[in-house]
Amino acid sequence: SSRASAVLSALEIPTTPIELPGVYDGEWKGSGEVFQSVCPATGEVLANVNSASPAELHGALERTREAYVYFRSIPAPKRGEIIRQIREALAAKRDDLGALVSLEMGKIRTEGIGEVQEFVDICDYAVGLSRMMNGRVVNSERPGHTILEGKSRVPPTMPHRSHQSPTICPVPNPLGVLGVLSAFNFPVAVYGWNLAISMAAGNATIWKPSPSTPLCSIAVTKIVSGVLEKNGVPGAVAGLVTGGKDVGEAVVQSQEVDMVSFTGSEKVGRIVGKNVQSRFGKVLLELGGNNAAIIMPDADLSLAVPAVFFGSVGTAGQRCTSTRRLYLHRAIAPEFLARLQTLYTSPALQPGDPLDARTLLGPLHSRAALDIFDDAIAELKGAGAQIVSAGDGSGRYEDLTPPLDRGNFVRPSIALIPKQLKSKAKFNSKAKSESESESVSDAGAGALWATERFVPVLCVAEFDELEEAIAWNNAVPQGLSSSLWTRDLRHVGKWIGPAGSDAGIVNVNVGTSGAEIGAAFGGNKSTGWGRESGGDAWKQYVRWSACTINFSDEAPLAQGVNFTP
Ligand code: NAD
Repeated sequence: SSRASAVLSALEIPTTPIELPGVYDGEWKGSGEVFQSVCPATGEVLANVNSASPAELHGALERTREAYVYFRSIPAPKRGEIIRQIREALAAKRDDLGALVSLEMGKIRTEGIGEVQEFVDICDYAVGLSRMMNGRVVNSERPGHTILEGKSRVPPTMPHRSHQSPTICPVPNPLGVLGVLSAFNFPVAVYGWNLAISMAAGNATIWKPSPSTPLCSIAVTKIVSGVLEKNGVPGAVAGLVTGGKDVGEAVVQSQEVDMVSFTGSEKVGRIVGKNVQSRFGKVLLELGGNNAAIIMPDADLSLAVPAVFFGSVGTAGQRCTSTRRLYLHRAIAPEFLARLQTLYTSPALQPGDPLDARTLLGPLHSRAALDIFDDAIAELKGAGAQIVSAGDGSGRYEDLTPPLDRGNFVRPSIALIPKQLKSKAKFNSKAKSESESESVSDAGAGALWATERFVPVLCVAEFDELEEAIAWNNAVPQGLSSSLWTRDLRHVGKWIGPAGSDAGIVNVNVGTSGAEIGAAFGGNKSTGWGRESGGDAWKQYVRWSACTINFSDEAPLAQGVNFTP
């Protein structure tokens, strides 16, 4: 369609023929299985992408290793300069690339652009980092000794140092090859978080994107490789292997890949984590979330209601940080719900083309997600929940005009969970589990709350005490994002302290959904404990060594051990 070709041609992606190579290792190729890119708003096939054959994957992994050996010798601030140029190239194409995210993934215009902005932001961060990835000097208990924590090579002050080594110690060393496996819902930003930090660290990166968003990965790789080529850097510093489960498994199992950064479902993450661990590789897992917002009676509802609305309906409920559980204090529950329902039924929430700047509600990404939505509503209804916002009850829109009538649109829904189910969920909390173990075995009520359903369904329950709501917040296996709404400092203290939220993201008067690149992003428990983006996340992308150097003419043993014959 002209709608699609306008987006693709702005990024120099040919629209005819619609068969594209999906592998880049310095050169574009692809002769493996063909994957279709389908627009979720219209059902239109955008392109057929030729994924990596086993031989091409093997070749790409070899090129990536070679590229790493080259790239690690470039001083970090010089690598930072290349990242700065990537930032400029991305910023120049920000709106076009954002439009492609909307076209192929289905998220709305400002969110598509926002995702590219995140890549731009993390590049800025990584440029700074390239001059700040420092190790430490540690005090030694032995005279004339120094411990450098960071690198393992001999310092330049030593007479027998290697003349090939241009780096000044102590700095952490590059790790090697990073494999990035990413999910459909952030087809650009997740790779950006990883690539920018990985490049600053001196690694080469190979990307296996979601099989349903290959065009985004091709467009990003074209932009990045253009900068690498201009700088005479091997393209395989940022390689691409599109494909499905087989390609993902091969990357995970390859000894060429020193660290795997995996973003996706809990189910696949569990397999990936075990497989990488079994070969003693490094793994960073960013898995599913099941995020709760708690609203205290003193909360400012004019801020809390729109935040919960965005958290549960934004991206059509397809963010790992989407608000899926809402706990309302009994005193404000009726008013909060009434105000939330008004937003849910607002005419502005009509489904629309994600490329249209006025659209707030885009489609679900896949046909399969429609079944997940239907199953979720059926399961909740079966358990006695009251669905208070699903229109005619089916959750589908009957009156959409072509071509949107072939899109995966569903009506965002609120499910009120009756008291007895709610209180059983509470007994699943760790705090209660020892004293009330017979209730823990009641998995029925627990499962209702414990599963991440990647669709816009918000489960709601009422509580009386903050402690109760915190116990529910913590009662699920996942631990990504959480949000408390209050003006009372004492509540804040409880929430962020040792008996508070056990999630990786613990917000106050800020919704669960979304994040800035400056803080480390990630979750605890079954979300996988990984951290990406800001904070200390970069420390995972380097190889650490403790290096003890003896500058003296004695060689004493530590702890005063004497081994003189
Ligand atoms: P998914 O687990 O189905 O797929 C993720 C990636 O794994 C894809 O690239 C896929 O091809 C690959 N894969 C599938 N099987 C594999 C295997 N056996 N070995 C290796 N790779 C394999 O996830 P999805 O449906 O694309 O994404 C949605 C999920 O991602 C949700 O659970 C969401 O919460 C999560 N997510 C988490 C974060 C986070 O930062 N915590 C961010 C975005 C998405």
